[in-house]
Amino acid sequence: MELFERDDVAAAASGRNSGSVQHPFDRVLSELHAETLRHYRELEGFELPDRPAGVLMLAGDLRPLESARAEIARLWPELRPALVGGRDLRRLEPNLARGLWACRLETGYPVRPAAATLAFAGRARRAGALLHEGRAAWPWVRSGQIRGVFAGHERCASGSVLVAAGPWTPEVIDPTRTWSPIEPVWGVVVEVRLANPPRHVLEEAGVEDVAAGAAGSLFSLVSTAGAVSLGSTFLAEEPDPRAWAAALREAGAAFVPALRDAEVVRARACARPQSLDGRPLVGPVGEVEGLWVAAGHGPWGISAGPATSRLAADAILGRRRIPASLAASRATTTYAR
Ligand SMILES: Cc1cc2nc3c(=O)[nH]c(=O)nc-3n(C[C@H](O)[C@H](O)[C@H](O)COP(=O)(O)OP(=O)(O)OC[C@H]3O[C@@H](n4cnc5c(N)ncnc54)[C@H](O)[C@@H]3O)c2cc1C
Repeated sequence: MELFERDDVAAAASGRNSGSVQHPFDRVLSELHAETLRHYRELEGFELPDRPAGVLMLAGDLRPLESARAEIARLWPELRPALVGGRDLRRLEPNLARGLWACRLETGYPVRPAAATLAFAGRARRAGALLHEGRAAWPWVRSGQIRGVFAGHERCASGSVLVAAGPWTPEVIDPTRTWSPIEPVWGVVVEVRLANPPRHVLEEAGVEDVAAGAAGSLFSLVSTAGAVSLGSTFLAEEPDPRAWAAALREAGAAFVPALRDAEVVRARACARPQSLDGRPLVGPVGEVEGLWVAAGHGPWGISAGPATSRLAADAILGRRRIPASLAASRATTTYAR
């Protein structure tokens, strides 16, 4: 097995995300998430906390949280959604602003953003895979069949090629962009220093709406060993992360006042690979025999991606079928070479 990465492993969203492994609030993705937790528990060199830290979905008003709580209680009672406010909320998170309400969910494992990707890369190397970093690759197709990849001036032969290029997947598969079911949604995350970082994963309510395409930013704060990640934007164009640092800090101060004076360590930007229906596209793609895809996890890639990878690998090896809800064939514009 050979992997071609045009940059370094984990250089994009898989190394620059907010670092919360959490339930993705979707029927199909939640199954991938449950399987992903099992993969993480067996992954050498990666530590998933035994118990979730808990997610606090935050709002200034109780009403949107009441409906979110009712919906989550109906669909995923195992998340034990509970509304918390006032003194009870400050007992959970003493540094939150006054007047906020929260819906607490039993999910959210803070991890270092790049940790899982680097650990999987280590496992692949130990299993004998060749990882070529700093080498972009494109499918090499002849007569409707995959022959391998073009990498620089070289051709590397292979009977199967899996494209897992995140938001760049459509342009790698189809340079004409006729097939374009995944779009980048750019996120800025600011790493800050906080004397009293939160114990929970903090999130402003409404991530489903912005993930579905409304531009702007939503507050989130995730504290992992050694770093506190303040997020994040949802933008169609690549932003200058430094230009967003002040705005994110100011917006965040409405939830955690100490953010107003928090030192900015660094700011980073990366793109979520947002698919047409919010679920990844997996399996054979277009009319080319031997060409496969696994991409499109949007804001949930470190929470569900490892199970997608397992599914794609099993399907290539003929061990499992791709369920219709994840099949790449649901992106209807076909593409042929
Ligand atoms: C701000 C932000 C915060 C996030 N926070 C979370 C979170 O807390 N929890 C969560 O579950 N998810 C989160 N996500 C989502 C998650 O990070 C992504 O869904 C996931 O990382 C996508 O993984 P991927 O491997 O598909 O794509 P990527 O990580 O983008 O990897 C694609 C790789 O393909 C390479 N590539 C592109 N073209 C080529 C080519 N021609 N040849 C070779 N290589 C190529 C790129 O260099 C890149 O390294 C967040 C995303 C963002 C943007």
